[in-house]
Order: sequence, then C-alpha cells, then structure tokens
Amino acid sequence: MAVSMNKVFANLPVTVFEAMSQLARDNDAINLGQGFPDDPGPEDIRRAAADASINGYNQYPSMMGIPELRTAIATHYKHWHDLDLDPFAEVMVTSGGTEALTSAILAVVEPGDEVIVFQPVYDSYLPIIRQAGGIPRLVRLEPPHWRLTDDALREVFNHKTKAVLFNNPLNPAAVVYPREDLELLATYCQDFDVVAICDEVWEHVTFDGLAHIPLITIPGMRDRTIKIGSAGKIFSLTGWKIGFVCAAPDLLRVVAKVHQFLTFTTAPNLQAAVAYGLGKSDDFFRQMRVDLARSRDHLTKGLEAIGFPVLKSQGTYFLTVDLSPLGLNETDEAFCRRIVTDYKVAAIPVSAFYERDAVTSVVRFCFAKKDATLDAALERLSDAVHRR
Ligand code: GLN
Repeated sequence: MAVSMNKVFANLPVTVFEAMSQLARDNDAINLGQGFPDDPGPEDIRRAAADASINGYNQYPSMMGIPELRTAIATHYKHWHDLDLDPFAEVMVTSGGTEALTSAILAVVEPGDEVIVFQPVYDSYLPIIRQAGGIPRLVRLEPPHWRLTDDALREVFNHKTKAVLFNNPLNPAAVVYPREDLELLATYCQDFDVVAICDEVWEHVTFDGLAHIPLITIPGMRDRTIKIGSAGKIFSLTGWKIGFVCAAPDLLRVVAKVHQFLTFTTAPNLQAAVAYGLGKSDDFFRQMRVDLARSRDHLTKGLEAIGFPVLKSQGTYFLTVDLSPLGLNETDEAFCRRIVTDYKVAAIPVSAFYERDAVTSVVRFCFAKKDATLDAALERLSDAVHRR
C-alpha cells in the first residue's frame, strides 16, 4: 500500500528550470533556459568569500544574518532608493530569494485567505500559498506590454484578500513596471488592507535608463510591504543563494519565525562577501547593466536576423520571442522540446508560468552569456523558424 503524501507537493511536476536544464544536459545543448550567467562572477567578491572562509568565522552565524550584511543592505537601499531601514529591526538575510518568498508567504497567509498573483507567475508561488491554506486569485497579464490595469485589479481585490505577490522586474516577461502601475496597485493594497509581498530580485537588472522603483517606497506602502532581494541576481552569483527580506518590524518579526525553521541561517563566508559587494561603487552596477544590455541586444539582433519576432526586454536576464506569427503550428512547449533535441539549444516555454488560460506562443531565452555562447546558439537555431 502506497503511503499518502502531502497532495500539494505530491502532484507537482519538477520545476521547469530544473527539467529544462536536465534536458540540456541530456542533449548536450547550450542552456539558454534557466537564468544564470556563464561567467564566474566578480573576482573580488569571490575572493572576499574565500578570505572569509579561511580567516573568518565558520560556525552558525546569527539567525537574522551577520550584522555587516544587514547594515550593508540598509545602506545600499538608502543609497539607491532613499529608503530608511533599521538594519536590526527591518532587515533579514535568507538562503536565497525562494526561501525569502516562502518565509514571507507562510508568515502572512492563513487558511481561507485570498492571495492575488499575476500570471505569468513564478512557479514557487502557488504551491507555497496552497500549503499555507491560501486561495490564489490569478490575474492574467497580457503580452506584449504585461501592464497592470484598473479593471483587472478591481475584479480580484475584495474583503478576503490578505496579500498580493508582485514580481517587478517581471520574470519571464522582462517588464520594469512604471510608477503609474505601482501607484495603482498601492491604492488597492491600502483600500483593502492588503500586505504586498514584493519579489524584487531583478531590481538591479534594468536597461535603457529605466529605474526600478520598489513598491515599499510608494506612499502608504512602507508598513505593508515585504521587500525581497537576491545577491545571486545582483552579482551574477546565482548559486550562492543569499536573499534579503526588508519589512517593518512587526512584519519582519513573523517572517523571521518561519525562516528560523526553514533554513535558520546562511553561510557566513558568503554573507561577508555579499556585504563587501553591496558597497561597491555605482559604476560597478552601471557597468553590469551596460554589459547585460549589450548581451540582450546581441541576442535580440541575432534572433531577429533568423526570423524570430523578439518582444522588448526592459530588465532581467531574459528576452522573449513570440512564435505566433511564424505559423509553426506548435505550442511553446513543443517548440522548446524540438529545439533542445533537434538544435541543441534549451529555452523555457512561458506557458510554464501559468496555471490556466496560458499564453502558449511565447518562449524565454537567457542572454546573460558570453558572445561566443550566444553566437553558437544562434548558429544552431539558424533554421529553427521552419519545422523539420
Ligand atoms: N529564477 C531562475 C529562472 O527564472 C530559476 C531559479 C531556479 O531554477 N530555481 O530561470
């Protein structure tokens, strides 16, 4: 007799990022699926981690994060967003953005609470909301602009709404939301007394002079927003899994109670290195954007040259292509399976970011790669707009 396991997790597929990376390995494909750069990351930050491993403290660091990192996070956000955070009451370090999100959701959501999420939705959100007993209310964002609209928000906010999960810049759509959309969302959060859990892990990865605006800085949101960041994305060190949670003391205190029993704490050498990295000059962050924007343009031009209609990417490591004008008569998922086996290039079908009413004609490519990697992928894909 089979044992009965938790149905929320028992029926879940393996996350699309892992599944596509495995297919990439199996097919010896170039992996433009899962979002990670193919360079080793800033050497000085990696050296700081090595130095902290050899010369620093390697036992359990404090549960909330090492004081140097909590202070560096507060200083960083003061500098970039004029946000005043008390490092010891309003900042916590987690083992990555996903842990931060899980801690925040479990801290806020109780059985029967409605939680608003936007599709395309990152795949970890819904299972964790459901595990908490929450009821997801899905809002479908429409390509190519993926903007928030008053009509869509009016339809879902109600007196049972407890929280909204908002990802900005938005993965996979690569949108950086303008102030107007944030103000609209903020109005609804205040009118219905809702907590905003903001997945802002892509906050530094914005292009063409577009600035990321944290929702917590919009008037009225300071005490009802849980802001989540990730050093992996800021420093192109995705395997380090260092996340941050910033929130008013009454909110953070409860998020910390979940964190203490999820991961409790995070590798102290990596925390020390991230504290060092957050203090780097503005030029470092600007140059990172310039370099990534150049890679975006490189892949955009290459894909357009071989016939793919590319949707504009304003931020993140990703761009998307719209298959619908190509007349391929196959879904994004079928297309991704075909190109990984026939052309040895992995990408992510955007339908994986939907629970229902999926957009099935959009595919995501990661451009955070060396030119040689992108060129090799383009060469392999040169006739992929035709079926064979
Ligand atoms: N955030 C990454 C992406 O969108 C995936 C992270 C993961 O695989 N858990 O590609």
